[in-house]
Amino acid sequence: MDGYQISPTYDGADVVVVNTCGFIDSARDESLGAIGEAMNANGRVIVTGCLGVQADLIREAHPDVLAVTGPQQYEQVVAAVHESAPIDEAHNPFTDLLPPQGIKLTPRHYAYLKISEGCNHKCTFCIIPSMRGRLVSRHAGEILREAEQLVSSGVRELLVISQDTSAYGVDLKYSGDFWRDRLVTSNLKGLAEGLAELGVWVRLHYVYPYPHVDQIIPLMAERKLLPYLDIPFQHGSAKILKLMKRPAAAENTLARIKAWREICPDLTLRSTFIVGFPGETEEDFQQLLDFAGEAELDRVGCFRYSDVDGARANALPDAVPEEVKREREQRFMEFQAEISRGKLQGKVGTRQEVLIDSVDEQGAIGRSWADAPEIDGLVYVTDGQDLRPGDWVNVEIDEADEYDLSGRLVG
Ligand code: SF4
Repeated sequence: MDGYQISPTYDGADVVVVNTCGFIDSARDESLGAIGEAMNANGRVIVTGCLGVQADLIREAHPDVLAVTGPQQYEQVVAAVHESAPIDEAHNPFTDLLPPQGIKLTPRHYAYLKISEGCNHKCTFCIIPSMRGRLVSRHAGEILREAEQLVSSGVRELLVISQDTSAYGVDLKYSGDFWRDRLVTSNLKGLAEGLAELGVWVRLHYVYPYPHVDQIIPLMAERKLLPYLDIPFQHGSAKILKLMKRPAAAENTLARIKAWREICPDLTLRSTFIVGFPGETEEDFQQLLDFAGEAELDRVGCFRYSDVDGARANALPDAVPEEVKREREQRFMEFQAEISRGKLQGKVGTRQEVLIDSVDEQGAIGRSWADAPEIDGLVYVTDGQDLRPGDWVNVEIDEADEYDLSGRLVG
């Protein structure tokens, strides 16, 4: 970014930028904690991200932060950095030769690719639309050019993110855009086809099970996209999904998953669920377990419902007592652990392509195509001491638990 360099430690930084989330109370507390940590360790802190819209709250807890900016206020963040860490004229980053792709805040071999901002849905537990506004998609050509630059700078895995990836392009009326001298449609299929040409892993996050998502499953079966979908289902009871006002709540999701697996049998599905939403009865919870059992999801995260300031779900009747939420969370995670363990056991003896994330004297740690960074499992390569981060290798799996795999290099 303008030639500034990322410091791996607080000590070496002229200024610390803390990106925050204010989505749920625990995220807000975590963000305030991260600001406090940066203040203690460095003392020169700029706050950005969703919680930035609550500047008073931030300044009340941390009066000495240098600046507070809100979500998507890139120019304001950059201006605050310029002001707080003035340029050394001997190494002027505005005039030095810079890589046009700027910086990525992830290791060199993978990068997040944001395709849109905002959301048109109105999930009752969520305040993102009020913080970030309605969906604004980037044009397909612009995204694909950024993806090309990332790949040419060494990125081997692109993680496509947004608030609602399946809605991509609806605000652009799916208009065409130019890339590599041809017209590309700004919709999910057009974008996916373009990304599939780049020869790297392409992973899709935050997709909802709408009918048009069917169109990209053949690309996964052909391995042009990773056969992986991150779909936040949130519940399995039609009643609760309706109370949540979830996108695609009326779709027959189990039938859709079955049809997808017929086309792409090794499709990996990751999801998140909320237990203890207001009005959730034992019967609704049982439906959630039934859904998870039938869907046979590979990776699952579970959250206990909690009120979010400003969310409409706060006003719903029949709040679930905290101890019932905890008990359901535990039951759900135990139930899902069995499914995940069985799925991973099925990989023992198979050969997996693995992208290496880190290496030390114990070996290397990477991920198979079924694992997104930071949220899914790992593959421990016990004889991978000579590998480097970013290497793609084949690994024969000899052990599995409910999260991770381990194995040895082959080929
Ligand atoms: S889809 Fe729902 S939960 Fe996701 S950002 Fe939009 S309103 Fe929030």
